[in-house]
Amino acid sequence: MLKVFNTLSRKIEEFQPINGNRVNLFVCGPTVYDLSHIGHARTYIAYDIIVRYLRFKGYSLFYLMNITDVDDKIIKRARETNQHPLELANNFAQEFYKDLAFLGIKSINLFAKASEHIKEIIFQIDELIKKEYAYVVDGNVYFNVSKFKDYGKLSHQTKNELKRHRIEPDPKKKNKIDFSLWKSRKGKPVWKSPWGEGRPGWHIEDTAITLTYFGSQYDVHGGALELIFPHHEAEIAQAESMTGKKPLVKYWIHTGIVNVNGLKMSKSLGNFITIRDIAKKYNSEILRLFFAQSHYRSSIDFREDNLKKAGETLGNLNRIYKKIYDLLDKVSDDLQSEDEAVIKKIEEYEHKFYSAMDNDFNTPLAISALISLGKELDKRINETTCKGTLRLALESFDRFGSLLGLFEYKEWNRFEEKIVNELIKIIIKLREYLRKRKEWKISDEIRDKLNKMGISLEDNIDERN
Ligand SMILES: [Zn+2]
Repeated sequence: MLKVFNTLSRKIEEFQPINGNRVNLFVCGPTVYDLSHIGHARTYIAYDIIVRYLRFKGYSLFYLMNITDVDDKIIKRARETNQHPLELANNFAQEFYKDLAFLGIKSINLFAKASEHIKEIIFQIDELIKKEYAYVVDGNVYFNVSKFKDYGKLSHQTKNELKRHRIEPDPKKKNKIDFSLWKSRKGKPVWKSPWGEGRPGWHIEDTAITLTYFGSQYDVHGGALELIFPHHEAEIAQAESMTGKKPLVKYWIHTGIVNVNGLKMSKSLGNFITIRDIAKKYNSEILRLFFAQSHYRSSIDFREDNLKKAGETLGNLNRIYKKIYDLLDKVSDDLQSEDEAVIKKIEEYEHKFYSAMDNDFNTPLAISALISLGKELDKRINETTCKGTLRLALESFDRFGSLLGLFEYKEWNRFEEKIVNELIKIIIKLREYLRKRKEWKISDEIRDKLNKMGISLEDNIDERN
């Protein structure tokens, strides 16, 4: 039985999707005005593992992510660089997709850009005005927080606690904490609306997108911890006021923050690390292992020492993997008496791994099961282990690897790739030598065989005359 921690109830709950086996999952994507940083990497790796695990459990899961391509930060950056804001946003969205590919994240089914859902956003704002949850002031539209009595239920704040927040300083707002649905603006990008030209607020983008693809209620909403208030709180207010259906989201799952050497990451402190920076030094599996060694909800201190340790752990696991792999050719099919103990260990750690994952995706515990299994196998297997047992061990490694996104990058595979490349070069040289000696028959045969392997060689026809 799978259990998840729900920010809404602040409790561990049994995971039961709204619609049988189907799971609709939405995660807040980036605001694309710059390269993504390691905080983003942590969040998106965490949901990638969650999604991989839910699919492994048999859920038919649709993973939707928005891309915020309309935002004041984008407009500011575009002005500085003399670009159209949507063009700049599109360029950084492409960079974001490259980062995801580097991180081994292929689990997202659909990216939805805010700029491509303006019609849906306007429709939603219009409905909120009609139902008197929103009001217009000089072309701006605000959500009237006092009309939605559940405001604060996700961030667990009382009405008095909420009053302390200052959101947008417009003296014409009815309540200080009323938030923007539509901003009256000039300059690119703007869209026409019933309230005049302008652009949407940030929060309405998510609910317009989820309503379009998932309807009024769905299973899981994810994002980083710092998005709970006001962003996710506002989403609940907008959607539940408009549709009248509660709850908008059954399970709210939030990822913890990432610090760098004990300090909050910020551009002013100069400790801002992009995924590009880190990709120059470490492969993505080291990064994935490093992040997954902390629970997704806890905060992480990003230190290179720990990253190096994760690299050593991964190197050791890969060494054990290769040891098992190499033994496969040398051992017999006959079950030996020692095999039984190895098989038992594999079963024991499989059980530990899945129980950990079932308990609110406890990846640190799951990884320690993987490491312990590795140690046991390293100690117990040898030339007398039977083939079937080694296969079980490799299958186990592969399954854990596919859930965590590990063991896809295998050092020895790269090594073999290098050898193959060198051998091909030698064959081509040898063939040139044969051609010089006019050994056409054998050189043609080599060419044809290489061709069949997808390596095409072009010869100068005149040479033969
Ligand atoms: Zn969002």
